[in-house]
Amino acid sequence: MAVESVMSFIGGRFAEPSSDETETVPNPATGDTLAILRYSSPDEIDAAVRAAAAALPMWAETPVPERTQVMFRFKALLEEHIDELTLRVVRENGKTLDEARGEVRRGIEVVEHACAAPTLLMGRALDQIAEGIDEELIRFPVGVIAGITPFNFPTMVPLWMIPPALVCGNTFVLKPSQRTPLSAIRLAELLAEAGLPGGVMNVVHGAKDAVDRLLAHPEIAAISSVGSAGVARYIYATAAANGKRVQALGGAKNHLVVMEDADLDGTATAIVSSAFGNAGQRCLAGSVAVAVGTVGDALVEEVVDWAARLKLGPGEEPETEMGPVIRDERRKELIGHIEEGVDVGATLAQDGRGVGPEDGFFLGPTIFDNVAPDMSLWSEELFGPILSVARVRDLDEAIALTNRSPYGNAASIFTSSGGNAREFKRRAEAGMIGVNVGVAAPMAFFPFTGWKGSFFGDLHATGADSFRFYTRQKVVTSRWSLPTKLERTQPEGRGH
Ligand code: NAD
Repeated sequence: MAVESVMSFIGGRFAEPSSDETETVPNPATGDTLAILRYSSPDEIDAAVRAAAAALPMWAETPVPERTQVMFRFKALLEEHIDELTLRVVRENGKTLDEARGEVRRGIEVVEHACAAPTLLMGRALDQIAEGIDEELIRFPVGVIAGITPFNFPTMVPLWMIPPALVCGNTFVLKPSQRTPLSAIRLAELLAEAGLPGGVMNVVHGAKDAVDRLLAHPEIAAISSVGSAGVARYIYATAAANGKRVQALGGAKNHLVVMEDADLDGTATAIVSSAFGNAGQRCLAGSVAVAVGTVGDALVEEVVDWAARLKLGPGEEPETEMGPVIRDERRKELIGHIEEGVDVGATLAQDGRGVGPEDGFFLGPTIFDNVAPDMSLWSEELFGPILSVARVRDLDEAIALTNRSPYGNAASIFTSSGGNAREFKRRAEAGMIGVNVGVAAPMAFFPFTGWKGSFFGDLHATGADSFRFYTRQKVVTSRWSLPTKLERTQPEGRGH
């Protein structure tokens, strides 16, 4: 396959970036080079922001139904190209076909939600808040938005941001992950084909330097970012210090609590799929299974049994059930965590080292039993196919362990008791709760509600929150009534 040069998209023009810094984009399943990514220069990043700022007055004034029509056409194009978009994700990220298709589908659902903009952008009004006076709340765009996205959902995460931001009348500069830039630029091509005017959407490339340039740029009004914990914290603090609106989604360490009354077969399948789907590179991946009471031995046996049978390989092969991790360096770091887990005394119940094809960056499902909170296996987001099992006495202890984590993205309970489920959903300190569900991902019309160290900001991505994040509210108080009898008899200036 020919090696691509990755374009940037600035002011409606696709062009190869010009800085000296380049990065090779491999197919993680084979190690073959897919593309050479050249980073955008600081001037090019500034040009993208200028283009977005120049397009803003025109786009903000474009009637909402017209902005929405672009989204309808974009949705049709995404559907038309779904196979090709799926393959892009498979090749640059390493997912299986099903996982990649699922990701693209989840992204399209955000576009569908954005197509409801004429309803979602409605304000509120109250007639007669005082004698002869009415009040209304109206939503306006925020301005130029910068989006900073991670490698693990190269299509879906940009689509969490772009559709709601654009239908709200903002213009956009996307800086996708330097590790997976190919899907993002394809989205820009399809938006242009859908009739989006030049400058409304822009894509630049790079890593920390590019992000820093956007965070400091005076013409960027808001930052929407998704990435690892430290980066999320940094982006939140820096953007806020620069006076920008910001939402920064961060890392996770999701606990899956298994009660003695759970359906063990279904639970084990759900845990395997949660922990090892997308090779564990998912912010909703279950990474700690919390076995309550006597369930531990049977649970570990079942989970190991399922996990050991997963077929690793390139995602393009339809029988593949699990793909590689994103880079060889990541695989080596993960192997380091496995060695450390063994050293500190956790029980290695399933060893993924050396499992999977030799080409590519494969690491098989790895399961540690008897993991304790003082081990990094429990405390750190590993972001790979490593599942830790911790054993606790009862539900209270399970909730306490879940809540001890500095993260609070998702938490699930597996049980057949409504009482256990209710207790858990009320007391677990995580924003996305699963009951007999291993990946508690909200649909596009709900917000993606991470808590604690998993999210920095107030308004979350997707759902009604995103429409609030991407708009500024204005409250207008008007008097357009004839003077009342009382005012006619009062001296000037004594009215409301
Ligand atoms: P990452 O933090 O390495 O990169 C994310 C983005 O930030 C990229 O665009 C990258 O170029 C940029 N970046 C990297 N280092 C930076 C720095 N020092 N300063 C400023 N910007 C920087 O994340 P990743 O490895 O691409 O993605 C995986 C992480 O994203 C995981 O931690 C995962 O949990 C998280 N994630 C979270 C969610 C969520 O909804 N909470 C969703 C998806 C991924």
